[in-house]
Amino acid sequence: MKRADIVTLDKRHVWHPYTAMETYIAQTDPMVVVRAEGPYLYDADGRRYLDANGSWWVSTLGHRHPRLVKALVEQASALAHVSLAGITHEPAARLAEELVAIAPGAERAGLPTDQRLSRVFYSDNGSTAVEVAIKMAAQYWAQNGRPQRTRFITLSGAFHGETVGATSVGGVPLFREVFGPLLFDVVHVPSPAEEGGWERAFAAVERTLREQGDTVAGVILEPVLQGAAGMQLYSPAFVKAVREATRAVDTFLIADEVFTGLGRTGARFAVDLADVVPDLLCLAKALSGGLLPFGATLATERVFSGFLGAKDRALYYGHSYCGNPLGSAVAREVLAVYRDEDVLGQVARKSIRVKAAFERMASTVPGLVRPRALGMVGAVDLGGGGYLSHGGWRVYEAARRRGLYLRPLGDTVYIAPALNIPDEALDELLHGVEASLREVAGS
Ligand SMILES: *Cc1c(COP(=O)(O)O)cnc(C)c1O
Repeated sequence: MKRADIVTLDKRHVWHPYTAMETYIAQTDPMVVVRAEGPYLYDADGRRYLDANGSWWVSTLGHRHPRLVKALVEQASALAHVSLAGITHEPAARLAEELVAIAPGAERAGLPTDQRLSRVFYSDNGSTAVEVAIKMAAQYWAQNGRPQRTRFITLSGAFHGETVGATSVGGVPLFREVFGPLLFDVVHVPSPAEEGGWERAFAAVERTLREQGDTVAGVILEPVLQGAAGMQLYSPAFVKAVREATRAVDTFLIADEVFTGLGRTGARFAVDLADVVPDLLCLAKALSGGLLPFGATLATERVFSGFLGAKDRALYYGHSYCGNPLGSAVAREVLAVYRDEDVLGQVARKSIRVKAAFERMASTVPGLVRPRALGMVGAVDLGGGGYLSHGGWRVYEAARRRGLYLRPLGDTVYIAPALNIPDEALDELLHGVEASLREVAGS
């Protein structure tokens, strides 16, 4: 099919995510991608683009990593799908064992059994991985003597996904305001990434737990890096302090590592930077290497035990595709590639260059503020315009002309490329970002 025909059909019928459709239909000439390989996207005009955000943060091993494709094809030829209700299969069972073996705290001697992340509940994406954690926490307290514990503490700027539950614990006003009447009650505390520092945010958490801990089912956070808020970084000391405070009143800590999990920050999990073991850990995105939707929620043995006993104590929850054999097989191969290609080691080496490049840009390109970087994330702001500002989109256009797909978060220009991006491609990316920023700054 010709490029123009695809665009015509698209504009007639496809409703795009996070897109003002009137403007899109009238003005946008979308990229029509026909192929993707490693860090690159190829469009219908034969142009090549560096994928600066790993296709919304999922493609951490590059597009179509040969080993992942092979694992997918082999699994598809044997068992593509079966429900996980009263049935099990090797990929789901083995993946669960492998996730538990690398989970935060797995190697910590002396960690009590009930605090170990030893159980894996599968779902199909990041939002559902969070939804599962919310329901587990709420139901745990409902049937284990603390039914008044129904509220969650969440951070300003938090992003936990798109379902109504995940939106309820979100903290980006633009994404929640219109649904206000539908959302459940949460306690918002300042983000530890805001001015005032993590201590101010922690004081709010601590006070809420001390005064209202009887009503709090858990604290949910994106450890160390709030992605959708605009790549906001904060100190691991906050995560550690929240862990201690939740233990003091015996409530749950939910770590949403849908974005940070599996190496994005340089550590295997961002909670590892704080040496913290949460009660619930949400994974998706990198877990299936950008091949297909897949999610998992890890729970401690204690949380799991709270659902044993009579039938009405079970978690009545499950998606059609949970534990899907294709996703499970690919996720196992993702973990194997991480081991065999020393992906965390690669991040450690490359992250130094990402950080240096963003610092250099901020000091040489006029108008840039707050350069920041951690692991394979680098970001800088064009003033303080926020999510609906246009500056980032002007950089996006400049970058696109240079063969870079650099979708901004409002006025935040950032990269979150494949963790195994080859060195030459990383150089090309960093130079392209700098040149695009310079072009917009100078116009
Ligand atoms: C992307 C994201 C989600 C939602 O994941 P989906 O797979 O898009 O539903 C949840 N939490 C965080 C931290 C994310 O970055």
